[in-house]
Amino acid sequence: MANTPTSKSSYRNLWSITRGHRTLYVLATLCSTLAIAGLMAVPVIAMYAIDVVENQDFGAANKFLLQLANYFGAATPFASYLVISAIIGVIVTTLASVLQFLRGRLSAVASEGFAKQLRESLYDRTNHAQAKFFDHEEVGDLVQRCTSDVETLRQFMHNDVDALARALLLVFVMVPILLWRHPTLTFYSVMLLPIIVAGGIVFFRFVAKLFRAADEAEGKLTAVLQENLTGVRVVQAFAREEFEYKRFDRENQNFRDKYIRMTNYESWYWGISDFVCTVQISIVTIGGGYLLAQGQLSTGELLLFVTLASIVVWRIRQLIDVVERAGKTLVSLERVQYLLNAEQEPVQERPKDLRTRGRIVFSNVSLAYNDTAEHIKNIDLTIEPGEKIGLVGPPGSGKSTLIRALLRFYPIKSGSILLDGKDIHSIDVDWLRQQLACVLQEPFLFSRTVRENLLLGKRDAVEQELVDATRKSLMHETITGFPNGYDTRIGERGVNLSGGQRQRLALARALVTKAPVLILDDVLSGVDTHTENEILANLANKEHQPTTIIVAHRLTTIRNVDRIVVMEQGRIVQVGSHAQLFAEPGPYRELCDIQGLLDESIQYETELAANG
Ligand code: ADP
Repeated sequence: MANTPTSKSSYRNLWSITRGHRTLYVLATLCSTLAIAGLMAVPVIAMYAIDVVENQDFGAANKFLLQLANYFGAATPFASYLVISAIIGVIVTTLASVLQFLRGRLSAVASEGFAKQLRESLYDRTNHAQAKFFDHEEVGDLVQRCTSDVETLRQFMHNDVDALARALLLVFVMVPILLWRHPTLTFYSVMLLPIIVAGGIVFFRFVAKLFRAADEAEGKLTAVLQENLTGVRVVQAFAREEFEYKRFDRENQNFRDKYIRMTNYESWYWGISDFVCTVQISIVTIGGGYLLAQGQLSTGELLLFVTLASIVVWRIRQLIDVVERAGKTLVSLERVQYLLNAEQEPVQERPKDLRTRGRIVFSNVSLAYNDTAEHIKNIDLTIEPGEKIGLVGPPGSGKSTLIRALLRFYPIKSGSILLDGKDIHSIDVDWLRQQLACVLQEPFLFSRTVRENLLLGKRDAVEQELVDATRKSLMHETITGFPNGYDTRIGERGVNLSGGQRQRLALARALVTKAPVLILDDVLSGVDTHTENEILANLANKEHQPTTIIVAHRLTTIRNVDRIVVMEQGRIVQVGSHAQLFAEPGPYRELCDIQGLLDESIQYETELAANG
């Protein structure tokens, strides 16, 4: 679960995602600013009302209000003045509430839009990430980055983006109002604010670390959960439920502990900061009361100070809350940016002649997954159009790596690979892969219908093309036997199909594309030899003759190919037909001998079992 430092380009990526929502944010901030301004006006109105009534003197009052008061109740102008002030207060508060509602709506639309766009970007970036990116990633953790981390960002965008503007407004508007009424009391009103702010900043840094640990623990938990659910049948088959449960429980506890640790510190911090805020308001109340008794402050002014100081203090405390959430958001931001930064497959020019003949030339190709060793070395091999090549060798000898180099899943270290004379690294990677229909040993089938799976490589294939392909892979009869035929839904990852059926369906999916090159990576390991021979015969005697590379562990699979390539320790050690290679001593002959022995011993054990 590596993390890369945040780069300027990823900030740019993220900034560009906010495009289209920025105006909404500006409007939301404007609404909340006006709402706060309205809320601040209410204590000022109350101050005038109280002072006018207490002093029985309209001196300080607004002339317009005075006229209004006289108009409504010349007999009782003070009472009318109070009522009018109250009505104005209610109107202003109502307007402020409407503005707050608008702010909520606007920022909800903006933040939801931002989150949706971010999820789309993440989906797109991971889909186009280079294969090596996934070597060290756990799917569960990637899911966590695309869901939970995006949600943390969304919440921040929804609730907190305009909080800073609000807090600054409070400080810059309220403090002058207070200073205007009483400079000394203003000082007492904000004297503890630096402590609240400084404490908040220190805590913010600390809690960010705790949140990172908690978030990563959640990522691990999701990864274990995802892996266990995916492999639930293996777990059951090996009766490993208890073991896997303990593993899950360990991560679960770790996650809980990390969160409890974080919330413990948060509780302490909020407890203390609430106490400091209350002390600050008490100081204003007591100090103001003293000045009132001394005749240096009016009752209205005292009310103004206590109300405004409370608003400032609690809003600043809320701002610290925002700052704390900003710490968490930064962690999520970094985790999301890690995905946005994933190295992408290059976009290159698509060749104009959209079909190739399927001539492949490896020349002096070496590939290394890492710095420690070369995993295939100095590969020289020319495969002619329509030729069938069998690729054999012990596990780890580099067969799949050779295929991955051809598919451009990993960059080669040296040499070149040509497809019909074109360097595959100079052409569009999507186009290249459309020329190479590849079936992997453990094919992935989507939990969609059989038809949808078959159409994956060629969206516009007609029914007959699907049937031709499934007939070749001997799946047609099986599919028509399903309750809904080609429209039968395959269970998640194709669990309601046997291993062999999944392989044959994946083979049909590749055949539908009619690509000029067909790559079969130990595809027929899940079917019996008889079925395998029949499928291979079907592939051989039809009009469309793709260049075919068959990676096989069972040598019977490749006995009839044109040439067999034998690999050992990343190198090609023998090339020739079965007859040629079998006739001479060497690795192929040894493989045949070993498999012959194995086949004999299996046959012997089968006979033994059959005879009781
Ligand atoms: P084969 O297909 O013949 O069984 P592979 O091509 O899968 O062999 O592997 C060749 C070597 O490369 C092995 O030593 C294997 O451990 C290593 N290898 C395969 N994939 C990776 C990878 N993604 N990262 C690092 N090493 C790898």
